[in-house]
Amino acid sequence: MKRLVNIFTYIFFPTTSTDAKMELDFAWRDWRQMPQEVGAYVRLDKGGSLICMCAFNYVKGESCGSLNDIALDRLSTILHELIHAYLDFYTCRCVEVLDSFEENVAQAEGHGRAWQRIASAIERAAPELLGYPLNMGRFESLTTAWKDLKHWPSREEVEGWQLVSRGSE
Ligand SMILES: [Zn+2]
Repeated sequence: MKRLVNIFTYIFFPTTSTDAKMELDFAWRDWRQMPQEVGAYVRLDKGGSLICMCAFNYVKGESCGSLNDIALDRLSTILHELIHAYLDFYTCRCVEVLDSFEENVAQAEGHGRAWQRIASAIERAAPELLGYPLNMGRFESLTTAWKDLKHWPSREEVEGWQLVSRGSE
């Protein structure tokens, strides 16, 4: 799985060797007591970052070609968490832009405008780049934070992100 994380980083978040912040480890987790937890991006106190994924939970979906629903969900989860890692590494947090950091990055538990735009672009590119459709939970990531949302996206943004509730399909 760590190799898959590295490959996805190389494909979707290329950086130069002098600016290689996207070095992530991977760990399986036993989150059977927390069925809502599928994956997480974690920055460790002792340094380093990793993507964690529940070894037991998965969302039921559709299979595609040689990949079943579990495998497809794993791919989507890795990329979902890689966006969180990318924004953590590269987002500016200077005092003078803190308001826009909150609005564009931090709100909705990190699923703000920046995350939505990147996730939307990856989902659109995935069928051609990977040969598989991905569902990164974009709509659900906003609706679970609905009541705490302070900065609402415009109608044009929502249309541009092509948000679709997969649960209602
Ligand atoms: Zn997320």
